[in-house]
Amino acid sequence: MNSWFSQNKKPLIQSLGVFLLMFGAVILITIYYDFSQIDVGALLFLTAFLCCVFVAKNTFDMSQASDMSEELKKSVASDLAISSEELYVQLYKNSPVPYLIIDFEGHVKSANIAAARLLGEKQISVTGINIFSRLKCDELEHLDLLVEKYRKGLAVSDEMVRVGKVGSLESWALLSLYGFTDAAGEKIGLLTLVDITKQKKAEDAKSEFVSLASHQLRTPIAGMKWSAELLLMDNPNSLNARQHKYIDRLLISIQRMAMLVDDFLRVSRFELGTFQAEYKKVNLVELFEDVIDEQSTRVKQKKITIKTFFDESLSKIESDPNLIRMIVTNLYTNATKYTREEGTIHLGFARKEDNIVITVADNGIGIPIEDHDDIFAKLFRASNAVRNVPDGTGLGLYILKEAVTVLRGRVTFTSTENIGTTFEVTLPLEDPDLKTKD
Ligand code: ADP
Repeated sequence: MNSWFSQNKKPLIQSLGVFLLMFGAVILITIYYDFSQIDVGALLFLTAFLCCVFVAKNTFDMSQASDMSEELKKSVASDLAISSEELYVQLYKNSPVPYLIIDFEGHVKSANIAAARLLGEKQISVTGINIFSRLKCDELEHLDLLVEKYRKGLAVSDEMVRVGKVGSLESWALLSLYGFTDAAGEKIGLLTLVDITKQKKAEDAKSEFVSLASHQLRTPIAGMKWSAELLLMDNPNSLNARQHKYIDRLLISIQRMAMLVDDFLRVSRFELGTFQAEYKKVNLVELFEDVIDEQSTRVKQKKITIKTFFDESLSKIESDPNLIRMIVTNLYTNATKYTREEGTIHLGFARKEDNIVITVADNGIGIPIEDHDDIFAKLFRASNAVRNVPDGTGLGLYILKEAVTVLRGRVTFTSTENIGTTFEVTLPLEDPDLKTKD
């Protein structure tokens, strides 16, 4: 009832207004003319009747209008639904981004034109292909991990993969994948592959240039080093103290330049994917002692205490000595660089289940919490390092991370600013290629 009144409020008010106006008009007419001549009751009845007709018409018009607007809304909504569905279909079909709908196993249920083009197939023949068999990652296990993630219902986003085309051609793409359940209750996935072949080629060209340039720079740097050393050895007494100092400085600069060029070369080789692990017998104790020896000057200058712990049962393992040396050198050099005078560094290795864990811990300047996420990024240096230790490139941890990846390991760290930092590198021992040797 209430809602009827609220719906028909407007015509009721209008009708009341009309009634009052007409009634006023009747009163005026009866005053103007002679009372006795007019039947007031009949006039009132006539006025009330006219008002009722007005109310009924108004109410009818209003409800018609509201019915019509409801219908209009419904038809507009359905029009919109149809057009947005069509819009999505058109977007899916014609998008320049390759889209594929796959089942739980990875078989293609449908693919758009761009996806077929990327795979080098006709659109019709893409259906049924197991897309996972067409994808490759640098690390074989990485693709398995991505597939497992998808099957567990986790989203995969922007992972760099190689896409096998018909023939032996390959493209590079960024893979994103997420699973959902369709209307029939089947678990399916939407997979996108953004083609980045051109960008990858441009990046590779840059890396190749850096690799070539670094390689070429090594020879003249070695020449400069030899010449400066010969100058010192040739006739040491003919040089005065100032000249000695200048040659020492020259040698330090040459050494830094050589290290920088070596780092550039390593970065470009990792980026080009040309760094293959070469497994050999590695004497870890000797390797650690060598690395410690290389930094002895700085350690003495800063009066740093070094504490080592070596698990003798792991002293000889099968691994890549160059990569292991890169890892230990980067961690230990950083520890000596970022530890204050009279600080302490603990370093060593131990067995943890089927892994070897290399640990380097210091009580130095630490890494500010806001920089933790970026610490392995190429050329990144934490704000406190930039302020306190100007000598650094931000390449060491990037190289370390790449070296650890090639050895199928992982690196973690904990750090608190002004308290210290601990890095842990875990490398698998159970791998058939990486067994403990006596
Ligand atoms: P850098 O040449 O600057 O040492 P790295 O790539 O080796 O470059 O390290 C990146 C950054 O990580 C450093 O600039 C520094 O901010 C931080 N860092 C690495 N190791 C340590 C450490 N042991 N203590 C404090 N900060 C560290």
